[in-house]
Amino acid sequence: MAHPRSLLTAVNSHGHVHLVIGANSLAAARCSQSLAVGAKPILVTPGPAHQGGLLPPALQVRVDAGEVRWVHSSPGLYETYLETLGREQVDGFVDAVFVTDRDHCLAESVARACMRRRIPVNVVDRPDLCSFTLLSTHTEGPLQIGITTNGSGCKLAARIRREVASALPTGLGEACARLGAMRRRIQEGDWRIEEAATTAAEETLLQTTETTTKAPTTANMTLFEDDSYDQNATFNQLVLPATKNDSDAAKTRRMRWLAQMCEYWPLKRLASVTDTEVETLLEAYTTQAASPPEDRGQTSPSDAPSQGRIILAGSGPGHPDLLTRAVHQAILSADVILADKLVPQGVLDLIPRRTEVAIARKFPGNADAAQEELIEQATAAALAGKTVLRLKQGDPFVYGRGGEEVLRLRAAGFRDGQSLFVLPGITSALSGPLFAGIPPTHRDVADQVLICTGTGKKGKPPQPPGYRDARTAVFLMALHRIVGLVTELTDYTAEEKEQSKMQRTLWPLSTPCAVIERASCPDQKVIRTTLAHVAAAIEQEGSRPPGLLVVGRACNVLHTHVPASSDSTTTSKPWSVEEGFANLDLGSISPAGLASLA
Ligand code: SAH
Repeated sequence: MAHPRSLLTAVNSHGHVHLVIGANSLAAARCSQSLAVGAKPILVTPGPAHQGGLLPPALQVRVDAGEVRWVHSSPGLYETYLETLGREQVDGFVDAVFVTDRDHCLAESVARACMRRRIPVNVVDRPDLCSFTLLSTHTEGPLQIGITTNGSGCKLAARIRREVASALPTGLGEACARLGAMRRRIQEGDWRIEEAATTAAEETLLQTTETTTKAPTTANMTLFEDDSYDQNATFNQLVLPATKNDSDAAKTRRMRWLAQMCEYWPLKRLASVTDTEVETLLEAYTTQAASPPEDRGQTSPSDAPSQGRIILAGSGPGHPDLLTRAVHQAILSADVILADKLVPQGVLDLIPRRTEVAIARKFPGNADAAQEELIEQATAAALAGKTVLRLKQGDPFVYGRGGEEVLRLRAAGFRDGQSLFVLPGITSALSGPLFAGIPPTHRDVADQVLICTGTGKKGKPPQPPGYRDARTAVFLMALHRIVGLVTELTDYTAEEKEQSKMQRTLWPLSTPCAVIERASCPDQKVIRTTLAHVAAAIEQEGSRPPGLLVVGRACNVLHTHVPASSDSTTTSKPWSVEEGFANLDLGSISPAGLASLA
């Protein structure tokens, strides 16, 4: 059954004239709501019965204070009010009408008069006469959250609103204001330059060296967006170091850093961002280059740390119950934790208050610099005798640069098993498919699984794996360039064609595939389709990083999505979308759970 839905909008009501009809406590509430958004409420009370100050005290106070204008109406004058009491700018029409009086005839005639004039109208208890309804709202600074059940019950909406609000970290409203100010400062005067820099970077990335047309860049969507935009598929596109002008590049990087911080930092961490921290971040991204900092001289092996140690560990795909006991123990005992930006809130919540925590300042294009920064921090802390936990997402050795870190730390004098330890984590590459109900190997269907990256070094596409019908391929870091990846899998590259190197077996467009985003997190999303439609599906459904792509017949073993064929008359999309994560919600039969580990 199709459920009723409304277009949720945020109306800028500053200076608007709202007519509030009725003389009851609801009218008082409407006047307060109206005033709170900068509008001018005019209270219209029907007939002489209310003359002489028979208003609820809350309303009377507002009228006495001059905040609410009070008009006593005679019958038949309402229509005139609709056209005369409003702003001059809109020829005297009022901007919205709230009927709080329960007189049916009055409500009906006012509502119809409003609708004829396209004036938004809301009538108490008469959904059939409302052109809009109000949401149950939670407000904190510039942050507003509105809930509607579209008529399924206002008490229910209020309860849901309370529940949503109580799940938010304290200080989020203030943080929105602070981050908003930061965003404006980055944009102020910079955006034109930034646009040019980003376009240049994207052109290089796409290797369209001779391109002259400047297509609008999606990376700049952030400048014009409203809150209805989700991330687009190019969110994690690489920002290449611009060659022309370093300060332009710095501006681009600052904007990208802010976007990545808002996307990946745990809300709790975002909520506690301070003015000084914002200043430091802005400052750092004004000057910091995207390339790794100059080699600042490695510590020689003779300086090997005497007491400190570094533990490189994987935190799993997202859900804290997917930590290993060893990693959980390391979280509890470390003096300093240096976490990657993808390490999720649930895991960070387990960190004891006393522990020092830093999150990597990493985004596509400055990975080297961010990595270097963390290595330096880790080395310094360990040399001071501390136990340092380098917490990475998933498994540290699966596209986590864990191997590189081990080499760097060995060179800095750390010794395996003495001052340097590596602990595994559950990789998203295998648990992601599992949580989407995809066994990457399955008898008679798939006998091998390949874990690949969709992005090569410096943004160059990596060599695509060949097709075998019994092969499952899992692509990490691939969704931002899904169009390119699908093209490479299903057709030979220009280079291959030129050099007549066309031995690779191509993947049929009909190969089943699945996109799994935020695996094991409460907002997990799974899209099931085929290679033919996956790019369109991501484009249309939006992107919720981090996410991965699984390709192969294994996708259809436990869940079959039969895409509508092109000649089919059905209007359904050739993909399906599943939201949410409940796999670990085992209730009372849950395995011991984290509590027992503490
Ligand atoms: N070491 C990590 C992978 C790091 S590379 C691991 O073993 O999981 C980062 C990529 O991992 C992302 O671009 C995305 O493709 C994938 N990824 C990480 N966490 C994910 C998650 N919870 N759901 C889906 N994909 C995820």
